[in-house]
Amino acid sequence: MQVYAVVGYPLNYTLSPNIHNYVFKVLGVSAVYVPLRVSPSRLVHFVEFARDSLGGFNVTIPHKVAITGLIDGVVGPARELGSVNTVVNKDGELVGYNTDYLAIKQALGERGYSGGDALIVGAGGVARAVALALRDLGCSRVYVMNRTVERGRELCSLISSWGVDCIALGLQQNVGVKIQLLINATPLGIDGEFPINPRNAGAGLVLDLAYKPGGVTDLVKLAEEGSIPYIDGLEILVRQALESDRIWLGSFEKPTWHEVFERLRSGLI
Ligand code: NAP
Repeated sequence: MQVYAVVGYPLNYTLSPNIHNYVFKVLGVSAVYVPLRVSPSRLVHFVEFARDSLGGFNVTIPHKVAITGLIDGVVGPARELGSVNTVVNKDGELVGYNTDYLAIKQALGERGYSGGDALIVGAGGVARAVALALRDLGCSRVYVMNRTVERGRELCSLISSWGVDCIALGLQQNVGVKIQLLINATPLGIDGEFPINPRNAGAGLVLDLAYKPGGVTDLVKLAEEGSIPYIDGLEILVRQALESDRIWLGSFEKPTWHEVFERLRSGLI
């Protein structure tokens, strides 16, 4: 039996085992997926253990950047982002990918996003993955709104270096510009009130990376009230997990993200 894992710290709560163990069952793969709590100072030891013992692993807060310096290779957008959330073990060689980027790009592309102006609230790790996906979907102007404005400016410098106009803003209710796409890349809306009403910003599409199993985030509620199409954070969680499974196991058609999402949302897995 193969063993897969998610490694993070403190890793208090994760839905990843529910998703991956369900996928393994549907595909008839003899494998198990477990959460592993690993502190930053022991990440280096975990990597050596993983080389012998794991088929692959996911990486979550706070290890997504640190892991890039400990594995043998980083490929595709993960290399450009300097951030890895999926590692595959190929006969002891550990190679890193970023399936958050893939999931965000897929979801936005399937909703018909075609490069209009976007506002990202947040400037952390997932905001970077969002920005790269936006660039690759043809976006030419991004606003980054962040609590710590200096961090927003740093992200804007990176985005500008990719050839996309970027303007950094402080957290505020009134955006002052019209946008096509509003993205939440913070915990706001679960932990604290989400500051912007997508209707007032003219948004035609909303992406909320935050998710509340069994509940609704502030931003999703505002999108529903304004009849604005939205992508739920749980959808991104499921999509990135299925992309990790494809890297570990090879391509498959079923289960689809939609089937796994519905099962997760209704508490069946
Ligand atoms: P991160 O690198 O730690 O960045 C956190 C971001 O949220 C920063 O911009 C931070 O602002 C902001 N923030 C945190 N608490 C805040 C508060 N109370 N008020 C205002 N801003 C606050 O984390 P991350 O990896 O980017 O993740 C961000 C969010 O996305 C998390 O909620 C995470 O669960 C979610 N996420 C979801 C998925 C998914 O699959 N659905 C994937 C990845 C992440 P400062 O810079 O000012 O600290």
